[in-house]
Parts: sequence; structure tokens; C-alpha cells
Amino acid sequence: MSLSDFDIAVCGGGVAGAASAALLAASGHRVALIDVRRPDWQMPADDFDARVVAISPGSARILTASGAWLKHPASRRAEYRQMQVLSGSGRITFDAQSHGLDQLGWITEVPALQQAQWLALAERGNVRILAPASVERLDRRRDRWRLGLDSGQHLDCALVVAADGARSRLRHLAGIKVDEWHYNQHALVTHLRCRRPNEGVAWQRFTEHGPLALLPLPDGRSSIVWSQPRERVQQLLALPTEDFINELNQHQDSPFGEVNQVGPRHAFKLVRRQARRLVGNGLVLLGDAARNVHPLAGQGLNLGLADAAALAEVLEDWQVEQDPQPRLERYLRWRQGSGSLIGGGIHLINELAHAPALLGPGLLGLGFGLAARLWPARELFVRRACGLDSDSPRLARAPDPDFR
Ligand SMILES: Cc1cc2nc3c(=O)[nH]c(=O)nc-3n(C[C@H](O)[C@H](O)[C@H](O)COP(=O)(O)OP(=O)(O)OC[C@H]3O[C@@H](n4cnc5c(N)ncnc54)[C@H](O)[C@@H]3O)c2cc1C
Repeated sequence: MSLSDFDIAVCGGGVAGAASAALLAASGHRVALIDVRRPDWQMPADDFDARVVAISPGSARILTASGAWLKHPASRRAEYRQMQVLSGSGRITFDAQSHGLDQLGWITEVPALQQAQWLALAERGNVRILAPASVERLDRRRDRWRLGLDSGQHLDCALVVAADGARSRLRHLAGIKVDEWHYNQHALVTHLRCRRPNEGVAWQRFTEHGPLALLPLPDGRSSIVWSQPRERVQQLLALPTEDFINELNQHQDSPFGEVNQVGPRHAFKLVRRQARRLVGNGLVLLGDAARNVHPLAGQGLNLGLADAAALAEVLEDWQVEQDPQPRLERYLRWRQGSGSLIGGGIHLINELAHAPALLGPGLLGLGFGLAARLWPARELFVRRACGLDSDSPRLARAPDPDFR
């Protein structure tokens, strides 16, 4: 049975896919959003989800245009105005104010952002949400796609957006290969309280085991991401709380003082992935379906949101009877270049940080020390990390009030 005819089907309603659906619908396209599950609507009132991310000012502008930022409660995000990065004796500090910015970004939970984006989507008359539903078949029929769902229903569309995450089924169905690098590292994540509250500093030290970040939460606690070899993370997960706190205090010298309380610990396996092509015939990959990067620079979702805004920009005045391919090729050149540059840079820093006998952290520290003295390099870095440089989509750089 045919569900209906759509201009665009977005598969995957994570933050990147749902933002993409909203931005494409804002240009007047009829959009179907398909997800295997609905977001978790129950946010803990007195705690924060373990899955927190750093959102850049450029991404916040994209989320404003997609309608999510207004629906996202301010009480569930903490802004950071300073970033401190340390390795060996080297150190670099970035202050929002000295770069003419109000903040360098926000720390917030992925589920809260997703929920806000779905609430905004539900208000759009030209978006149909199909969830829970899964795409079982992908057939090309002349210049359109037919998507067969697990319910036995199907839908037709001119363009498919695959935003179904790191192990994208759509990418597989479209026959797009992916390159993978296994780091043999896990990211250990927990929320903790230190002697002093974290009032807006994103702090990171490259420890002998891997990068340890303390990121501010709205209640003065910090959320940590500590990327380390898999075996060590397994040991840390099994440690009694007191021993784990001691281990943390041996490796962190943050401005917040000693850690005295930690929450539940979680681990995420780290794999770098890069799809060989971001575009097929009438099909495009975005977000984690396009690539995964190491979390040490907090760029994964920011890249996905930039993908969503870039796609909306290249398709802004596209009519469904026109061939979308030239526009998709533009998206391919733009986003493949950006993703490879950022992903490659992060990969290099991670490799260096894990070089033997502390040589890497020492070299990194030397690099930080040099970079700290080079103002143009710092300014360039901040613009890029904040998603505000000339390569960023128009929505990220200068919000257009008509683009709602
Ligand atoms: C420890 C850690 C720290 C991180 N920190 C940061 C950070 O500070 N800043 C940052 O920007 N990024 C960070 N990231 C990365 C970030 O979390 C991801 O890049 C981002 O959440 C991916 O969003 P997405 O929408 O592309 O994919 P996902 O969130 O994976 O969403 C995919 C969606 O597709 C759906 N789906 C799956 N399969 C199907 C299917 N077959 N059909 C239909 N739907 C399907 C899923 O249900 C889901 O809703 C971090 C990651 C980790 C692991």
C-alpha cells in the first residue's frame, strides 16, 4: 500500500536527521521522517543524561532556524565561555570575550535536543513522521526512489537523506562503502562534582592514558569524557567509587579542585568511520551516517548539523521536477572536504597523544605553547571550532530571520 508521495524522505530522526527534515520542510518540500524508534520523552527532572555534547554557536544558530533551540529548555544547557587545553607543560586558553563572542558553546544532552527537534517538527504541516518504522527495501524507479517499510507499506520520493547513524542501513542498502579505523579505545563518560562548581569552562588535559575533558553542566557539576585504551576503561568501570575518584584526582588538575562525587559510569566504543561517497543517485548521507570522528574535539554532531544546513542551502530553490544531482554534487564537494579536514585533524591529534613514552603529549604541549602565541592561528581555530568560519553554511554564520 502506498503511504503517499513525498519530495524527500529523511531516514533517521537523531538530532542531525530531524534538523535536516525541519530545514528542508522550511523550504516548502513535502518531507517524510522515518525512524526505527521515537525519542525518549521522559527526561530525568533532577539529573542529566550521560550522552552530553558540546554544541557550537554555529550549530545553535542552525538549531534556531530548525525550530529546536526555542523548544529546548535553557535549564538543560550550560554555556562555556572559556576553553583550556593542556598537554605536558603546554597550555592554551581560549576566552569567548577576546574573540568577540558571548560564548564558545553549550553543553547539553543529545536526547533533550532530539526531543526539542521532534516537538518543532510536529508543528510543521508538510512533515510526516513515520515511527517506529524501518526501511527494508530501497528501489530506484526511473528518477524516483521507492522505500519499502517493515509494515509492508511503501513511499515514493525524489530524494533520500540517510541520517540513520554510524551503522547506517540506508548507506548499506545504497551500496556505499565505508572505511573504518578501530582505535581500541573507549570513551568513559560520567557526571561528577568537584570542590568548586564549574561555571562555564571546558577543560581538557591530554593525560598519559588519553584525553580527559571536564565540561560544565547546568547544576555546577562537570561531565567527563575520558578516552582511553579499552582494557583500562574496563578496569575503571569495575573500580569501587572511592578508588575511581582517587584515580581521577591523580590525572586531573582542573580549576575546579578535587573530585568528591561521581555518578554512574558509561563507556562508548570509539571508531572512526568515513563513507567513501556522501552522495549517490538521488541520495545523500549526513551526520554519523556520513562519518564518525573521535570525540576529543567535540565535533561529531556539529559536523552533522553543518551537513543538514549545507544540504538545505544547496536545495533551497530546488523544484522537485528538477534533477537534484548537480546540487548534491555541490554538497558532496563541500561536506566531504570539511569532514575530511576536521576528521583528519582530530585523528592526527589522537595518534600523537598516544605516541609512545609520552613523546606525543610532550610534542602536543609544545604545539599548544607555540599556538598560544600566534593570534591569527587562535582566531582561525576559534572560528572553525565555533562553526562560524567561511566554510560554514550560511545559516550558521548569519541567521536569516525568514528561514524558519
Ligand atoms: C563519548 C562521546 C562524546 C561526544 N561528544 C560530542 C560533542 O561534544 N560534540 C559533538 O558535536 N558531538 C559529540 N559526539 C558525537 C555525537 O554524539 C554524534 O555525532 C551525534 O549524536 C550523531 O547524530 P546523528 O543524528 O547523526 O546520529 P544518531 O544520533 O545516531 O541518530 C540516528 C537515528 O537514526 C535512527 N535509525 C537507526 N537505524 C535506522 C533505520 N534503519 N531506519 C530508520 N532510522 C534508523 C536511530 O533511531 C536514531 O534516531 C560524541 C560522541 C561520543 C560517543
